[in-house]
Amino acid sequence: MSVFDGLPPLREVIARYDIGAKKSLGQNFLLDGNLLDRIARVPGKLDGQSVYEVGPGPGGLTRALLRAGAVVTAVERDDRALPALAELSALAPGRLTVHGDDALAFDEAAHLPPGTHVVANLPYNVGTALFVRWLTAEPWQPWWASLSCMFQKEVAQRIVAAPGSDAYGRLSVLAQWRARPRIALELPPRAFTPAPKVSSAVVHVVPLPAPDGVRGPVLEALTAAAFGQRRKMLRASVRGMAGAIEALAECGIDSARRAETLSVAEFVAVARVLSQ
Ligand code: SAM
Repeated sequence: MSVFDGLPPLREVIARYDIGAKKSLGQNFLLDGNLLDRIARVPGKLDGQSVYEVGPGPGGLTRALLRAGAVVTAVERDDRALPALAELSALAPGRLTVHGDDALAFDEAAHLPPGTHVVANLPYNVGTALFVRWLTAEPWQPWWASLSCMFQKEVAQRIVAAPGSDAYGRLSVLAQWRARPRIALELPPRAFTPAPKVSSAVVHVVPLPAPDGVRGPVLEALTAAAFGQRRKMLRASVRGMAGAIEALAECGIDSARRAETLSVAEFVAVARVLSQ
């Protein structure tokens, strides 16, 4: 029996510390311990591993991460949750550090050791911004060893989408050009308290070596232009980007095609020419 087995149910913690869910903070809590353990298993074995959790709230996922043996650093913007998290921290000396902060303002590389696993049920209002920041980290290999993050299912589908599908876009290319994303788990609305309107999914991402000669900001600008007007031909959508039409030609890509038909490798090839 571990020290975490005797903890009060999460519903009790929420009531005691008055952590009623606030929509403005994207709060949809997970209270089922078995489900939380499944999420904590997505990145693989965490025993002794450094984990970064954004938005622990009442601490359900944090408990699961601690049960898995992780050393957790967490950032929570809601002050109401901090006393509950302090109790948890006292039960796991040296294994849970909580910063009462905005994750968007948190300097991850300064606080977390290289090789940290990110595991988070992200607040929907800042989840994509954080995810894009992690995907565009420099230098590459990034400070994180893997990302296991909960998103609205529709966002998760955009992250893993293949060319030609409606979901394929800028987020797909940014997630796939030097990393491998997959949907690890899907959750219905009823898994959360309160239940959101839509389903959710946990996306697992591992970083891969970056392709040679491609500058990330160039690929970001190219995909922003190309998908900014996704229904248009590339020759129109990337017209404002110096050298882009010539780069398409150099890569043998017909500029009458539309962005959603280009593979990730084709975007990378064009970005490589533009990076020179
Ligand atoms: N981890 C808990 C769970 O799974 O039940 C709560 C997840 S809830 C979807 C999102 C959490 O992120 C909330 O606790 C919320 O207060 C916190 N949050 C919202 N915006 C934040 C921000 N900018 N920085 C840090 N935490 C934030």
